[in-house]
Amino acid sequence: MRILHILPLLVCSTTNAGVVLLYHHVDTKTPPITSISPAQFEKHLQILEEEGFTVLPLSELRQRSMDASTDGARKERIVAITFDDAYLSIYKNALPMLKARNWPFTVFVATEPVETGQPFYMSWNQLRELTEHGGEIANHTHTHTHLLRLEAGENEEAWLARIKWEITTASELLSKHGFESTDFAYTYGEYNAALLHLVTDLGLTGYGQQSGAIGPGSNPALLPRFPLSGVYVGEAAFRDKIRSLAMPIEFPTVEPLVTDTFKPELHLKFENAKVNPSRLTCYGPGGLMPLSEISDAHIIATALKDVPIGRSRYNCTLPSELRGRFYWFSQLWIRREDSGEWYEEP
Ligand SMILES: [Zn+2]
Repeated sequence: MRILHILPLLVCSTTNAGVVLLYHHVDTKTPPITSISPAQFEKHLQILEEEGFTVLPLSELRQRSMDASTDGARKERIVAITFDDAYLSIYKNALPMLKARNWPFTVFVATEPVETGQPFYMSWNQLRELTEHGGEIANHTHTHTHLLRLEAGENEEAWLARIKWEITTASELLSKHGFESTDFAYTYGEYNAALLHLVTDLGLTGYGQQSGAIGPGSNPALLPRFPLSGVYVGEAAFRDKIRSLAMPIEFPTVEPLVTDTFKPELHLKFENAKVNPSRLTCYGPGGLMPLSEISDAHIIATALKDVPIGRSRYNCTLPSELRGRFYWFSQLWIRREDSGEWYEEP
């Protein structure tokens, strides 16, 4: 038996954690895969109250979660609430519940559907009204494009220029309508290394759709959020998610698009001596993933089955020294059709 494994876990100064919640529609008549019912949303807000969480504006949540100097913050219970796409149901159903509690929130807006007055989207005036009640309006591209899909005849350079136009056009329109923010949410949660660089170069903070908590080691170009719609709205799971802590690992950028191997290895390199990774569990295609230990601090997780066509994730958790709170990390994978074509969005 190695001594390391029986020592109680002591000081752990970098487990600050903040959780960002991601919703789309709050409605019963919209597509279930991107919706939560108003009743279930209200239940989530009640659970946040019961569990003693403080709901912060997104930028403050990020700063407090990533601040490695404040040891005390590790016991904080802090979340931020975000909505993608500016759907009308946020104005109609979510706003009254948030207003009643005086809680801040952020809406990531794809600007074209708002500018052209598409049905089921909020208007600029309705977005402005949100800001009178603690709402922040942020960038979610102009046309809500798929970020990794090259158009016919487009090379890498032209693709990156087009995505830059998507983001800067949205920023300009938001600014024109009086909204200033440096927060950006990747449409469909899609990213690659070039996009992370672009977002950083544009002076933006990037939010994905991979689950997990934000901590001092998180990459500000790719901060995690917990998607809460469809089958992911359950109350027990919600409690686990809001209590989660950032997995204390190095965060190298792993390209999510798989092209050569469909059982990509996930390397988890733990910050030395911070935690004991022997109770790490990871789930991927086919279920519980076999783990191989390169060293005490370097674990490789491999999937039992190929990642499916479309978007999927590996999810890893590890019990922390705080009762009922788990370290959490999720890695996105994206796989095209075997023909090389892009899959249909469900
Ligand atoms: Zn979206």
